Amino acid sequence: MIYPITDRTLSVLNNQKFKRYVMRYLDIEQQTQQAIKEYGLNFETPFLQQNEIEQLKLEIKNYGAVFANNGKSIHCNWLSSACVQCRTGEGSHTTFLSLKCHRDCYFCFNPNQENYQYFQQEMRDAIGEVEAIAEQNYPLTHIALTGGEPLLFRQESIAFFQTVQQKLPQVHSRLYTAGDPLDRNTARALAKAGLQEIRFSIKIDDPKARITKILQRIALAREIFPTVMVEMPVIPGTEQQMFQLLIQLDDIGIDGINLLEFCFPLTNSEAYQSRGFTLKNPPYEVYYNYWYAGGLAVAQSELACLRVLKFALENQLAIGVHYCSLENKHTGQVYQSNAFFEQRKDVIGEHYYFSSQDYFFKSAKVFGDDCETVANLLKRAGVSYHQELLHGFLQFNPESIFLLSSLTELPIALTSHIIEPDEQGNPLIKEVRIQMTTPTDFLLTDLHGGSCEK
Ligand code: SF4
Repeated sequence: MIYPITDRTLSVLNNQKFKRYVMRYLDIEQQTQQAIKEYGLNFETPFLQQNEIEQLKLEIKNYGAVFANNGKSIHCNWLSSACVQCRTGEGSHTTFLSLKCHRDCYFCFNPNQENYQYFQQEMRDAIGEVEAIAEQNYPLTHIALTGGEPLLFRQESIAFFQTVQQKLPQVHSRLYTAGDPLDRNTARALAKAGLQEIRFSIKIDDPKARITKILQRIALAREIFPTVMVEMPVIPGTEQQMFQLLIQLDDIGIDGINLLEFCFPLTNSEAYQSRGFTLKNPPYEVYYNYWYAGGLAVAQSELACLRVLKFALENQLAIGVHYCSLENKHTGQVYQSNAFFEQRKDVIGEHYYFSSQDYFFKSAKVFGDDCETVANLLKRAGVSYHQELLHGFLQFNPESIFLLSSLTELPIALTSHIIEPDEQGNPLIKEVRIQMTTPTDFLLTDLHGGSCEK
């Protein structure tokens, strides 16, 4: 078992060097939260929803839902292969033609994308990217076209999927759309061009008539495409509308819906404030500078997603329902940063262990007076360790924690690491999280992906 380090854990920790080391993290977390508040939205009370979330997860599990990616992705019935691939990002490529869109959603995070203004006017060479991937023989399995609204560029979108069909015939293709520009001819042309999966977004606060129109387009898509999905954020307080929508989508017979944790894109705070939203607290499991442009999770969206998932299970709907948490969006980045170095001991050294559970490298540390005792035990077993004088710790591979079984209650820090390039482009191991364990509590399998992963 591995424990989080909280103010309470800290108050019972007697090792002063360990304590001082942890305080650095707590300070960084407080500073990050303070910086986030500058964007204009407050945090909810820490862990306020935790009990209810845990209870709902238990109920959903008992109904047979599949928990994957360390519990960050939960689904029932059916899941797109693209969503499985997204957890590591391996073999996936997502691109766009333009970031232009006919809608103006207050929660849109596209303004956070690099070169947003440029791609309002200019087109990206998405077809050129497909050709380059094909030429390089890159082992791609999934490709997606998103936007903006790709179907504002009907011919270019069709040409994109034609190119995928010609150059990468084995690759699974999908398209994201708000649905408004889709008519029968366009749908047929896209299907003929090889498009396999179409994902509609529905804006739950749209007028009823507009949602009805999108549902008609979804029904049309059902006649034409092999896979039809809806992907939308679940806004706290909209559960009743979501239940209704789920029944309608189930009746149409679509394959699945992705329930996204609703996010605050760090802009447009007035729109969020006026609706009474606050931010989920804590905002991250691991504080890090993530690529995903979606922003920060809004409090109570996770609860709403889980309630919708439970509704589908209780009512035995056939539709695949997938809760895709914000944390689920981050794991691909961690995997992409670290997995390549798993076998590169020459780069990372012997004191790190790659976790197949969350894709961080893990290392074990003991502090102060404990260093000497642990050093003696490891030396006797012929195990390598590293002594760090500045912070007074001894670092070793978590694989060796079992050698310390005689020190039953020894407090051990379990640190998480990610590899990023330094200024010269050389790999740099960055420590991003600290947790705690003891030789009695720790099992190496705590760092392995669960058995129900799919
Ligand atoms: S439809 Fe999508 S891309 Fe367009 S404004 Fe809304 S969230 Fe942004």
